[in-house]
Amino acid sequence: MNDDTGRGFLAVANGASDSTVSEAAAGAILTIDLGAIRENYRRLKVRLAGVRCAGVLKADGYGLGAAQVASALIREGCGIFFVALPGEGIALRKALGPGRDIFVLNGLPPGSESEAVAAGLHPVINSAAQLKAWREAARATGRKLPAAVQVDSGMSRLGMPPAEVAALAKDAFDGIDIRIAMSHLACADEPRNPANEAQRLAFERLRGMLPKAPASLANSSGIFLGSPYHHDLARPGAALYGINPTPGEANPMQPVVRLQAKVAQTRSVQDGAGIGYGHTHHARGPLRLATISLGYADGWHRRAASAAWFEGVRLPFVGRVSMDSIILDISALPAGRLDEGDLVELIGPSQSLDDAAAHAGTIGYEVLTSLGARFHRRYIGG
Ligand SMILES: *Cc1c(COP(=O)(O)O)cnc(C)c1O
Repeated sequence: MNDDTGRGFLAVANGASDSTVSEAAAGAILTIDLGAIRENYRRLKVRLAGVRCAGVLKADGYGLGAAQVASALIREGCGIFFVALPGEGIALRKALGPGRDIFVLNGLPPGSESEAVAAGLHPVINSAAQLKAWREAARATGRKLPAAVQVDSGMSRLGMPPAEVAALAKDAFDGIDIRIAMSHLACADEPRNPANEAQRLAFERLRGMLPKAPASLANSSGIFLGSPYHHDLARPGAALYGINPTPGEANPMQPVVRLQAKVAQTRSVQDGAGIGYGHTHHARGPLRLATISLGYADGWHRRAASAAWFEGVRLPFVGRVSMDSIILDISALPAGRLDEGDLVELIGPSQSLDDAAAHAGTIGYEVLTSLGARFHRRYIGG
């Protein structure tokens, strides 16, 4: 895993910010700690005890910037990346230059093979039809083409079903350099779920029917199921980004994101005042309110019953989340303590990503990948 390409890119990615909106003009500020991502990669490597570790960068690095995250992981020696779609792979290839392995998890849509060859992307082959198309691409190219092969060990989402694996002809992989034989766990975040062991055994059986290749089963939570799940390569995403891979237990990862929104205006209202769209909330007694410049267009669910924090004080949402704003009850703060332009915290030391997600009725994955494009993005720790 050399580290000699993409230097110019690294310099860009590690600048103060690649944001288009200034901190002064932005309604909210998203701080992404690339140093914490590197630390999380190192923590996973310790658990993996010598087994190789890839980085999953689908959905633009879980919303945090695939190119920036890749540059941080490259500095830790990571040279294998996974994206979901060819478009993501092409963008990542442009950012990284040649020399890193980029696998496309969802496989190649029919007809996109030549674009994938041109960008040096490796498909994850999920069906006999995709296998045939890649074999033909290899024939047309006149050289062996790398790929991963995914088998369905029991999630019923992506990968060759057992019957399809069993029916593969001897020459099915002609012209294809199988770099990884892989599958994906459906219930890895539930360590006591018997589906994990069942999938592991099904994977062992199915990969035995493929040409010999390095094996990969574990996502973030899979790494914490222990060494029988590690095989030759792990594929973490969430844990790198600070999402707890062991729900219900203390988070072994370091937090990566901080989201702060700016106060646009404060006001006092009288008993009975209707608050927000639909007047879903009425003041019971006089209240002090602050309106912040962040709303559902920035990825905060319209129905989220949640809270922001300021200097350790919880400021509950009141009324509905609007497109560009949320109203907070700031009565718990001394009058005048919070003013226009001040920042309140939505994700950070007072409220973890996983807690913020739970209050919004979802998971950290969805909060991260929903984060909007209007924030001032600040990259630190690169
Ligand atoms: C998303 C994904 C991963 C990473 O999963 P995390 O839970 O984010 O670690 C790994 N493998 C496959 C096939 C995936 O789709």
